[in-house]
Order: sequence, then structure tokens, then C-alpha cells
Amino acid sequence: MKKIISGPCSVESEFQFERTVKRLLAIGVTHIRCGVWKPRTKPGQFEGLGEEALKIIQTVKRIYPIITTYVEIANKEQYILCEKYSIDCYWIGARTVSNPFSVEELATSINPKRTVLIKNPINPDINLWKGAVERFKNRGFSDLKLIYRGFNTETPGKYRNAPLWHILTAMTTEYNLETYIDPSHIAGRRDLLLDVINDANFLGFQNLFVETHYYPTVALTDSEQQVTPSDLVKIILESKSKLAIDFYRDQIDEIDSVIFTLFENRMELSDKIGKTKKENHLPILDQSRFDSIVKSKEVHKLDPHFIRDIYKAIHVYSLKKQGN
Ligand code: PEP
Ligand code: MN
Repeated sequence: MKKIISGPCSVESEFQFERTVKRLLAIGVTHIRCGVWKPRTKPGQFEGLGEEALKIIQTVKRIYPIITTYVEIANKEQYILCEKYSIDCYWIGARTVSNPFSVEELATSINPKRTVLIKNPINPDINLWKGAVERFKNRGFSDLKLIYRGFNTETPGKYRNAPLWHILTAMTTEYNLETYIDPSHIAGRRDLLLDVINDANFLGFQNLFVETHYYPTVALTDSEQQVTPSDLVKIILESKSKLAIDFYRDQIDEIDSVIFTLFENRMELSDKIGKTKKENHLPILDQSRFDSIVKSKEVHKLDPHFIRDIYKAIHVYSLKKQGN
């Protein structure tokens, strides 16, 4: 079962947040990501509304009480503020997970009954990620989950962050924790979200932690990678059809390989018949046998023309083999 946590990269205004949430609810998403403090690489950019965003979240939650809210926190102070505004769940961001001091501070401050999602660190060091999980586990957290956002590397390929999937699978092999893929931060571009989701699905990862905005092009942060809630549905449906096609193709490939092995066996038998006919000076073609075989296959749920055509092809090559 696919689970989705979605919402804007940053809460920008009550108007923006309410509209986005309303549209997410319309597509059945009730778990809402809310960016409150934004960890920007360089100063001077929009860094989130902070406490003002928490007030907005509280207001919107009064309008739509069914939502569950998720906020990224990096220190104890932010946690205390979030509790004041009744935030439901927390995630620890990629930069914070890279710092064991911050992780320890959070693991000792947050109520262990809270749901906490732990993102992978920005650099491909699985031990930092494991260390963060261990620190929370040691404090008795019973509802830990993982978010995977790829890694900042020099060669991320076509994506913003390299999806080094083997690191994720190593992590989930070690810890049996619910895992969410963050295709937004892996892809960095909305037109590549589907590729990331398909690859993740192929590896068995279905849950998504994905950025949505009612009007992505005007978003104050990560505007290139956010999608509207209705586009998110389209992408998910498309990924499902791709998954279904791959699923059926795998089965067809299996069946085909059995069919072709049987053809091989059949040809060997034709060869033996051909040799026996030659030794006994018998004619190669036996029309009555051809007709009776085609007739006998009509019990199968197949188009009679298909049966005749396929059998003709088999027969032609079988006669050729016998004639050699
Ligand atoms: C985010 O979730 O908006 C974010 C900053 O992502 P990351 O920490 O994965 O870069
Ligand atoms: Mn973002």
C-alpha cells in the first residue's frame, strides 16, 4: 500500500498553505509536509517563516482537522515551539542528520512517543544515517521512519541528488523501518519525478514524501521541483501503469522462455522423426496428421486462425528439419 506525505517545500502564506492543503485533501492526501525553517546553503535567501508558519499551520488545521502535520526541526528550540502549536510529527533533515551533536540534542528533547522521520545525510555516509537511527532507538522511540532524498555528490547524473539506491537498500535491510522516497529532492526537476518514482517502485519502495504547491512556479523555494496536487496524481497513475506493464512483461518473458525451450525440445524430436522416416523410406509430409493436430488445438481459448498460423510456422520448420 502506497502512503503519501506531501505539502509545500515551505509554508509561505496562509493563502498558499490553505489552497495546497485543500487540493491535497481533494486527492486523498491527509499527511501534510510543512516546511517551517529552511536550511539554505547560503544566507540572504528565503529561510522559511518560522513561528509565523506554525501559526498558519494551526489556523489551517482548524479548517481541516483531519490533517496530520510534519515539520522539519533541527534543534530543541524549534521542537519546543512546534509542540506549542500542536505539530503532530517531525522529520530530521539531511543537514541535521550529518551532525551527531544535533541528532543527540533532538533525540534527548523530542517526546519518544512522537513519530520521527529520519532523512539520510547529504553525503553518502551510511554510518551517519545509521548513527542517527541508533541515537533515536536508544532513547526509546517506537515510531521511527526513514526518508530517502539521495546524496549530494559531484556526479549526480541527470538528478539534483544522486539516487545511490544500493545505500538505501543496505539501510532498509539493516533496519526494518517504514521508508519514504523523496523524489522531489532526488530529481530536483518536476519532469524527472516520474523516473525517480519508477525506479523506487521497481526496488519495492512505494511510499512518497513529495513536495506540492498549488502554484509551483511562484514558490519561494524549490519551485522547479514542486508539482500541483493534481499533477502528482497524474504522475502516480502513470508510474502505476508502468509498474503494471513491467509486471506483465516479466511474466510474458518467463512464458516465452518456456515456450522457446519447448520449441527446442520439439525440434529435436522432429529431427529424430525425420531420421526414422528416411531410414524407412517414408514420405516427410503427412497432411492428415497436420489437420488432426490443428483440430485438436481448438479446445484452447485461442483464435482458430492463430492456431492454424502458428502451427503452420512450426510445421514448415519441422518439415525443413526432417528434410535435412
Ligand atoms: C526539504 O525537505 O525541503 C529539504 C531541505 O530537503 P533536504 O534536507 O533533503 O535537502
Ligand atoms: Mn525543498
